[in-house]
Amino acid sequence: MTAQERLGEEPTRAARLLVVEDEEKVAAALRKGLERDGYEVVVEGTGEDAYFRLGKEGFDAVVLDLNLPGRDGLEVLTTMRQQGLDTPVLVLTARDSLDDRVVGLDAGADDYLVKPFAFAELLARIRAVARRGRGAEPGEITVESLSIDHSTRRADRAGQPLELTAKEFDLLYYLALHVGQVVSRDTLAREVWRDTARSTTLDNVIDVHISRLRRKVDQHHPVRLIQTVRGVGFALREDSE
Ligand code: CA
Repeated sequence: MTAQERLGEEPTRAARLLVVEDEEKVAAALRKGLERDGYEVVVEGTGEDAYFRLGKEGFDAVVLDLNLPGRDGLEVLTTMRQQGLDTPVLVLTARDSLDDRVVGLDAGADDYLVKPFAFAELLARIRAVARRGRGAEPGEITVESLSIDHSTRRADRAGQPLELTAKEFDLLYYLALHVGQVVSRDTLAREVWRDTARSTTLDNVIDVHISRLRRKVDQHHPVRLIQTVRGVGFALREDSE
């Protein structure tokens, strides 16, 4: 029985966690406990494998051991954040030093837990970081004369409502959340299309949506907001020319 069924709630998609831990016994215990709490759990034992997995599948949170062979947890975390991957991360560290905590939080961890820890504490922290990941998204975003309201799912440009499909809205909102940053097609496939097991590339689908969105957002406006960065991806920002 899942946590949701026990609580009598509508069964929804189980939250997916990526556990990155090289010690097999610890990883197995984490998997068992988290699955018992209703999570869908994927375990990776190295930083390389974790990073590869994060590049192609969506997760609600990552439980990341800092002490890994090869590419360590801190490197995985730093690279994730540099690539604009903002999945909440709970860092596990055996090293109870202030330095580790500061470095981990500076590198973009949402929280950390020092080993050994009580399982109930781990569950509480995971719940908190996963919720923060969703709750931290702003309801209203304004860029130049474009405004986007997530609660009503409406957008307008210079006061004129934009007629957007659901997917076009999601795409615009994601770009606006990362305003000024270049977002790759792979990131859009994962974060907007929620495509976790891609057999064929979504690049053409994404390009079509971008060009429709650009027509709706930028046509007849002197400032172009939806930018293509050749060979890299797209960005929502004011035209620099
Ligand atoms: Ca370890």
